[in-house]
Amino acid sequence: MAGPRPVVMSGPSGAGKSTLLKKLLKEFDGVFGFSVSHTTRNPRPGEENGKDYHYVTRETMQAAIDNGEFIENAVFSGNMYGTSKAAVQAVQAKNLICILDIDMQGVKNIKRTDLDPIYISIQPPSMQELEKRLRDRKTESEESLQRRLNAANVDMELSKEPGLFDVVIINQDLDNAYGKLKEALLEEIKKVKNTPTA
Ligand code: ADP
Ligand code: 5GP
Repeated sequence: MAGPRPVVMSGPSGAGKSTLLKKLLKEFDGVFGFSVSHTTRNPRPGEENGKDYHYVTRETMQAAIDNGEFIENAVFSGNMYGTSKAAVQAVQAKNLICILDIDMQGVKNIKRTDLDPIYISIQPPSMQELEKRLRDRKTESEESLQRRLNAANVDMELSKEPGLFDVVIINQDLDNAYGKLKEALLEEIKKVKNTPTA
């Protein structure tokens, strides 16, 4: 289905992806739509089933993957995550710009599909700041935190690969990073705003 190009946002856990995309969804209501992933991790306080994620058991998720219902899926920090075809179609059916928040394995797998999104990497200013943000967020056990920091080291190395991302944003000052994100998406935003709705 022809429509606006989707947007992939990736980067280490704690870099600020959710914070930035929530700002975007709020400011541009009716322009962007979030692709709600499936995960086997437990919901954090304040997260809503069907809004932040579809929270499922491993058995349910594996059965759906085996059934060909996912565009991509990965194991991150000991939990399964994946983008279902239905999640992306639900957003595209409304002619909205579909935003996917996925890890590096997801980025590599999406590159093998015909989704053709804009790839944006959100990076922290430093590992020290990343650790501070993850600790201050108070959502992770020490074990989960260490796993995420290990994954972040790998992510930060891999994200240097030339051409992997269209835009790399260092999220130091939030307003500044958000400005850069909007700038990167301006063309697509204009297209959606200029498309008359049925
Ligand atoms: P991600 O979705 O990438 O895992 P979050 O959006 O949850 O990251 O951000 C991690 C934590 O860092 C959150 O507590 C968030 O409020 C905070 N945060 C995000 N951006 C900034 C920033 N620019 N400066 C300071 N703290 C930030
Ligand atoms: P969190 O548990 O912090 O919400 O997410 C952990 C990591 O999983 C983040 O890097 C996030 O981008 C990634 N993630 C979330 N949903 C998906 C998905 O559907 N597919 C993939 N590959 N990664 C995902």
